[in-house]
Amino acid sequence: MRRELAPWLCGRTVASAERVDAPPGPKYAGLDRLRGRRIEAVRRRGKFLLLPLSGAVAEELIVHLGMTGVLSANPPAGHLRVRLRLDGPEPSTLYFRDVRRFGRFTVVPAGDYRSLPTLAALGPDALAPEFTPEGFAGSLGRSGMAIKPLLLSQRAVAGVGNIYADEALWRSRLHPERSASRLTKRQVTALHAAIVAVLEESVALQGTTLHDYRTLGGRSGSFLERLAVYGRAGESCPRCGGTVVRLVVGQRGTHVCPRCQPAPQRRSRPPG
Ligand SMILES: [Zn+2]
Repeated sequence: MRRELAPWLCGRTVASAERVDAPPGPKYAGLDRLRGRRIEAVRRRGKFLLLPLSGAVAEELIVHLGMTGVLSANPPAGHLRVRLRLDGPEPSTLYFRDVRRFGRFTVVPAGDYRSLPTLAALGPDALAPEFTPEGFAGSLGRSGMAIKPLLLSQRAVAGVGNIYADEALWRSRLHPERSASRLTKRQVTALHAAIVAVLEESVALQGTTLHDYRTLGGRSGSFLERLAVYGRAGESCPRCGGTVVRLVVGQRGTHVCPRCQPAPQRRSRPPG
């Protein structure tokens, strides 16, 4: 999404920003401050888009698609939350549609993410050189969490959502309920490599369209066809032929091959 947006938005000035049927509160705060300001860049950290704005006061437009958010260059059929008109020789409009309302489209002081706790505590981006096996091992070792909820927290690595967590854990043969701090060095290295590979492959295929996600031009992302376990409960594991099952881990639908990803052994309690 960032790669598509950058050449279109960079250097453009906002003619108007209109909140349309958007919930009140901080998720859509500060849109009145966008008018007349130039979008200086389109950056990404994890699943957040960060768009620094021109002007005497350093501010950024922050966009998060949530579960169902879509940015498009054409008006959506419904669930429109924001309409951003852009000046230029060819005036155009960016639309933000969001069915389930988990998304965000908000202006904050540059670098001040107090209203966005996930962004404030974000770990290194999965596709940035700062994400190393050694640093990842350190974050996992300090955590008292199971591996999948830790991945989804964005604190150990930024950019891994529910689909990519399931796929990366399957590729590295790790059950999502395993304790993050008890993985071996070899397992951490395998998981690190799987996260990077899954995200790079998906970016190259313009993402995964389950229901709502579309590219800026309205096309579906085609990583869906590559999914090994996510959304494939009852189907065969592409590696071993076992049956993929759906679990709930940390309140999120989770897909595993029980044969490739054995469940962790419960530690027996000491007697008494
Ligand atoms: Zn399997």
